[in-house]
Amino acid sequence: MAVLVVQWSAKRQCHAKGASEAESNERVVLGGNAAGKADTIVPMPIHPIVIYGEPVLHQRAEKITDFDEELARLVSDMHETLDASNGVGLAAPQIGVGKRIFVYHAEDDAGIRRRGTFINPLLIASKVPDTRPDPDDETEGCLSVPSLDFPLKRADRVTVNGVDETGQTVSLTTEGWFARIMQHEYDHLQGTLYVDRLDRRWSKKWKKEQTANGYNVPGRSWTPGVDPDPFGH
Ligand SMILES: [Zn+2]
Repeated sequence: MAVLVVQWSAKRQCHAKGASEAESNERVVLGGNAAGKADTIVPMPIHPIVIYGEPVLHQRAEKITDFDEELARLVSDMHETLDASNGVGLAAPQIGVGKRIFVYHAEDDAGIRRRGTFINPLLIASKVPDTRPDPDDETEGCLSVPSLDFPLKRADRVTVNGVDETGQTVSLTTEGWFARIMQHEYDHLQGTLYVDRLDRRWSKKWKKEQTANGYNVPGRSWTPGVDPDPFGH
């Protein structure tokens, strides 16, 4: 029981650090082997993921202007955090950093596995169909809304133009599921989460779940590889 208390208090410190100091990639290593090691601090690339209600998720992220080592480290940490989370995309605001960056690891519609980074992206999307989303094929989840998913209609085709962490131009045109990921991640940079876009029926369900799960208060996070996977991967 005592260990559990130490873990939770350590995580809160860790979260506060992530939210206020974008340049810090230190975190407290929890648990492990012998008792008494729980307060060891070492640099770690995996960042806590903040949850709906944290202000950084709900505001427009800032443009990147300096393509320096610090940016390269942040992007590398985002890829490691995404790997550990078993997700398909991660935007910087989700680790408490209000900058226009997202990374993705996912298969496209041709079955090709893609890993990539978009910085300062622009997204051009086809029209979102004015029909009801299919719960079997059009259900979305988000690492910042743990354990929940809801159907949402998205544009079928998008083009994303941006740069990578070295400032090199990156451009992508894609369809279907992969286009959905691009729209979801781009939305994060605008301060919009997929649950903010649900139609009336699903929005009602989300509001209930939001209250039940406490996804309306700032200061909450979970850490991939430390906390249980909220999506059961
Ligand atoms: Zn998300």
